[in-house]
Amino acid sequence: VKKYTEEIEFERMVRQEFFSNASHELKTPITSIRGYTELLLGGFINDEATSEEFMKRILAETESMTNLINDILLISRLETRDYEIETTEIRMAMLLQDIIKTLEPIAAKQEVELQTVCKPVIVRANKQHLRELLLNLIGNAIKYNKPNGMVYVTITTIGRDLLIEVKDTGIGIPKDSLVRVFERFYRVDKGRSRKVDGTGLGLSIVKHIVNYYGGNITLDSKINVGSTFTVRLPEVKANM
Ligand code: ADP
Repeated sequence: VKKYTEEIEFERMVRQEFFSNASHELKTPITSIRGYTELLLGGFINDEATSEEFMKRILAETESMTNLINDILLISRLETRDYEIETTEIRMAMLLQDIIKTLEPIAAKQEVELQTVCKPVIVRANKQHLRELLLNLIGNAIKYNKPNGMVYVTITTIGRDLLIEVKDTGIGIPKDSLVRVFERFYRVDKGRSRKVDGTGLGLSIVKHIVNYYGGNITLDSKINVGSTFTVRLPEVKANM
């Protein structure tokens, strides 16, 4: 009975922390949208360039809110599992190419080079899941890198299991954060991460997706040397 009560109490705390974090993350963009709108409506801005700049900022803030809400919805769906998740046959090389195309401009801006190796494999899974998984891992490897840094992505199989490795030569993760980075809203050293866009939900989403497939994820990292994330998804290779 005691253990049961403790578990309920723990879940209550986790839930409370989640709502508190989510509300805070949503409040920040709302406050700034409100501020810019009030300035624009109040007739304080007379020049076109400034008004345009403010409207652009409003748009950017709504985009960041949309991203956050989509992330929360995805986590919630993965947790409830009570709806039909569509699976299709996915050509991994094509999906990876697509994702690299999306991330390449960001990598170029950060002066980070991407190198990929992908086995010509077809898997049966949910496309959005694999897309989110790769976008978050490769996106992080770029975001938390250094100028002239490298990101190596390797996709291969062991039997019918899919193996994804994302390795970077970036800033690394301190030992005491290695487990915590998978928690919802956790960001290593707020000061360091604040300069970089993000909600702290990316790796939590990755972990939820990996769990959904009954797989596992490991993280190996060294400060100032780099990090390697390895994902194994069992039995997803299509029978062809
Ligand atoms: P976000 O990137 O939105 O902050 P994530 O959940 O994707 O959230 O990551 C959590 C934290 O883990 C990040 O804030 C960052 O501090 C750290 N992190 C994630 N990936 C890497 C990486 N490849 N190298 C160094 N630090 C990382």
